[in-house]
Amino acid sequence: MLHVLRRIVLEVGAASNLAEALEIIVRRVKQELTIDVCSVYLRAPEADGQRLLLMASEGLNPDSVGTVVMNSGEGLVGLVAERAEPVNLENAPDHPRFKYFPETGEERYHAFLGVPIIHNRRLLGVLVAQQRERRRFDDEHVAFLITLAAQLAGAISHAELIGEVGKRREEIQQDNLQIAGIPGAAGVAVGQGVVAYALADLESVPDRDADSIEHEEAAFRQAVKEVQDELIEIKDRMEDVLPMEERLLFDAYVMMLGSDSLVNGTVDRIRGGSWAPAALRDTVRESTRNFEDMDDPYLRERASDVRDIGRRILMRLQSHVREPEEFPEHTILLGEDVTATQLAEVPPDRLAAVVSSRGTGSSHVAILARAMGIPAVMGVSDLPVGRLEGRQIVVDGYRGNLYIQPTAELLEEFKHLQDEEKELAEGLRDLAQEPAITQDGVEVPVYANSGLLADIAPSIQSGADGIGLYRTEVPFMIRERFPGEDEQTQIYREILKSFNPRPVTLRTLDVGGDKALPYFPVTEDNPFLGWRGIRITLDHPEIFLTQLRAMLRASQGLTNLHILFPMISSLGELKGAMQLLQRARDELLDEHYVIPVPKVGVMVEVPSAVYLSEALARRVDFLSVGTNDLVQYLLAVDRNNPRVADLYNGLHPAVLHALDQAAQGAHRAGKTISVCGEMAADPASVILLLGMEIDALSVNVAALARVKWVIRSFSRERSRELLRQCIKMEEPAAIRALLDNALVQAGLGGLVRAGKA
Ligand code: PEP
Ligand code: MG
Repeated sequence: MLHVLRRIVLEVGAASNLAEALEIIVRRVKQELTIDVCSVYLRAPEADGQRLLLMASEGLNPDSVGTVVMNSGEGLVGLVAERAEPVNLENAPDHPRFKYFPETGEERYHAFLGVPIIHNRRLLGVLVAQQRERRRFDDEHVAFLITLAAQLAGAISHAELIGEVGKRREEIQQDNLQIAGIPGAAGVAVGQGVVAYALADLESVPDRDADSIEHEEAAFRQAVKEVQDELIEIKDRMEDVLPMEERLLFDAYVMMLGSDSLVNGTVDRIRGGSWAPAALRDTVRESTRNFEDMDDPYLRERASDVRDIGRRILMRLQSHVREPEEFPEHTILLGEDVTATQLAEVPPDRLAAVVSSRGTGSSHVAILARAMGIPAVMGVSDLPVGRLEGRQIVVDGYRGNLYIQPTAELLEEFKHLQDEEKELAEGLRDLAQEPAITQDGVEVPVYANSGLLADIAPSIQSGADGIGLYRTEVPFMIRERFPGEDEQTQIYREILKSFNPRPVTLRTLDVGGDKALPYFPVTEDNPFLGWRGIRITLDHPEIFLTQLRAMLRASQGLTNLHILFPMISSLGELKGAMQLLQRARDELLDEHYVIPVPKVGVMVEVPSAVYLSEALARRVDFLSVGTNDLVQYLLAVDRNNPRVADLYNGLHPAVLHALDQAAQGAHRAGKTISVCGEMAADPASVILLLGMEIDALSVNVAALARVKWVIRSFSRERSRELLRQCIKMEEPAAIRALLDNALVQAGLGGLVRAGKA
């Protein structure tokens, strides 16, 4: 049975549209189960989806397809929909809910089995099997149909999204189509879709023999050279937008281009008699297959880099280049797997946002988007890429949502939000330079989060009181090998110097989870619970010591270095890290460096650290809460999985209790505690963090001014009172409503509206 199911799912996956897919389903199910009728009914998109439309049938009168419509509460199909569970009847006409549709010729059938098609708790339709004879379908039939319906639900939901359900696509004016992904970079944008991969399509290259091997080889080598030049040019063009540090990424592509496997692999195939495009296609296929088989998301991204480079070479072979003026003024760049080079190819003043089906917030594209200050939405698995060229799109990088063909009303709303954001930002600009002091005189410094040298200038301009979290893995991720001690020293020194005497917190390497290094593959079934953060660096003292030495060397003559250890889950780990830090410092002192004693902190992002907060705090100078991970571990919700995104909630009462407990632990030990996860950038959460007496916040630059505004608008006393109320509540939504109301009352309604974007 399993292999039959798999085959059907594969055949359906290869169908080019919904109608074809449904025809395959009904035909194959009828054949495999040797039944008389198989039909699919789907919710009709009009009438609020309250009606079910017969979309495909093998066995019923073909003329009834597309015409038979049932209202909910009508007929046996309606009963399956209502109950959202299978209905299995020996003799359907005996059932009080049986309704006869003369156009189907149904009276001839007795046995009836209907199973619901459900996606994300939502009923999409009903799959029905019928037979002439009187019989109850056996368990195997029921199980088969349930499994099939569950497997097909995703594909049907996708078809529903792109307007294929119910009518022919051109008949439907599907406005305000909302699609959800993962936030990649904050901000809101309105613009026109440009599909990123409408360039050369390697997969469509046909096999062909080379007319002249010499000519093919020369053309290929010339194309490689041109792409190399093009990448160098792109890198130079980004000079004003990105600093050298981030532009190194393009060097990595140039290196990949010159690699033996790509060039020699292709040339060997050409010499074997193939024309250049097919030789290239096969070489790219071979290298990407190796990468794609890996579980590690970062390494899978390398496959997309190789494909991107392959497409570029092919485009040169076909001599087609997209000219800069082909990009509309507000380009929303979208694609299955948008790459960093594709993003860099759009003139920066025309790029409004980026959207990718694959990838997460830690993909290169998202990192670059954040550095450039444009919104990004990643991991949009339902993105109908092929349909989006030229369409008007609204991108909400805060929530990770897209709206295709927004109605005038929605567009107006978003434009209004954009204006409000701009106004708010302008209004807050002066305030950003003011200290963040509560109305009863408590100063709560607001630092910036960073991982890019590109963030330094904006952080300083935006009035950051320092850097509260510098993610050192970012410079590690955009290289092709571990950066050396001198290289690291230079990067760290630049940041420390720019902010001195304001504090700069450098977090030691936090790779693993969804952040992997291309040159250090870690393949695990459950990476977020695996070899991550401090666990890796403690196991590799050579990597850790190099980094700690670089941090310490970078701080010579400066007084602002803070070192932060990520993913600490036990006192033993902290002890190990402290010993290595001591060793790095001793070595440097032996080498006659004059190194000040750095401040040392621990991240509270694993639930065990909450319970150990007091003990941990006694051994260091400060704690810093990473709510991004803490929330995912407390609630067992993957922070990058759109399927469970609804469950990820920083205002969950358990999270509030944990944060409060961590704060109390730190304070009992007489140490400070800050929050550097995304919660610190959420105005409603900031009120509660103030109430918990969190000593400092660290947020992305875009959120800095508004967070200061919240702090300046509340007193400690008032925020304590709100915390007291919220912590007793049970529902996150009710907590959010109460806090939003408090923001509005304090005159910060603009923040509530911006947050609703
Ligand atoms: C966190 O987990 O909240 C955090 C700040 O670290 P990162 O997002 O880099 O894992
Ligand atoms: Mg973290």
